[in-house]
Amino acid sequence: MSNERVVLVTGGNRGIGRAIAERFVADGYRVAVTVRSGEGPEGTLTVRADVTDAAALDAAFTEVEAALGPVEIVVANAGITKDTLLLRMSEDDFDSVVATNLGGSFRVVKRAAKGMLRARWGRVILISSVVGLYGSAGQINYASSKSALVGFARSLTRELGARGITANVVAPGFIESDMTASLPEQVQADYKKSIPAGRFATTDEVAGVVAWLASDDAAYISGAVIPVDGGLGMGH
Ligand code: NDP
Repeated sequence: MSNERVVLVTGGNRGIGRAIAERFVADGYRVAVTVRSGEGPEGTLTVRADVTDAAALDAAFTEVEAALGPVEIVVANAGITKDTLLLRMSEDDFDSVVATNLGGSFRVVKRAAKGMLRARWGRVILISSVVGLYGSAGQINYASSKSALVGFARSLTRELGARGITANVVAPGFIESDMTASLPEQVQADYKKSIPAGRFATTDEVAGVVAWLASDDAAYISGAVIPVDGGLGMGH
């Protein structure tokens, strides 16, 4: 019964991660969220962990395994931006974004893979971004961390694909969330003009695609990059 499976979503207290966790709860899964602050949505098990801290993540997984069982579906969603132009970008601006977005995904997936290998079943879903392949001025750190997730998912597919484990990337475009709400209104209006759909997406529209990738219908999809961007990144 796929819907009784155990899901873990990182960064489940707000934004896209919260919507993903809510969708899995609504679909009947057993859902844990890792948070750095705040709480996960109703019906989830909330565990605390910063994704840059492997020991804290290990403890969070151990807590989830004791309460719900081994994690079968992992969604690496936690992420940050520290936007600025190359010549102004500090070592820390670069390193902290890569350590969270790419390093965080590595730590979470490495820990989750143990249980998946034992079960010979698993779904790894990495939340990237349209800018990973499209590029974005002022986001060299962020775009690098997000495009790297494609190589990650494809290498994982080659390593673990024969063990019943799939690994895919979801690449959202502009989504209504705290991350985009902080953009000036004029910038938001300009972006909307360049998106064929003419609008930003809701977090639920990303959650639906993640839920589908976790479902039995997506069993033979691995190493794919699924855009959820209203056509913004077509061909990239
Ligand atoms: P938000 O800024 O709303 O939420 C980010 C989430 O990541 C929060 O839960 C935050 O926790 C968590 N987080 C950040 N750093 C860490 C850390 N070191 N350890 C643990 N948790 C951490 O972002 P969105 O919901 O918009 O984005 C979610 C994902 O989707 C990100 O990976 C983002 O890059 C990606 N994305 C977003 C797009 C958008 O338009 N919004 C577009 C494309 C991709 P806390 O609340 O404690 O800060």
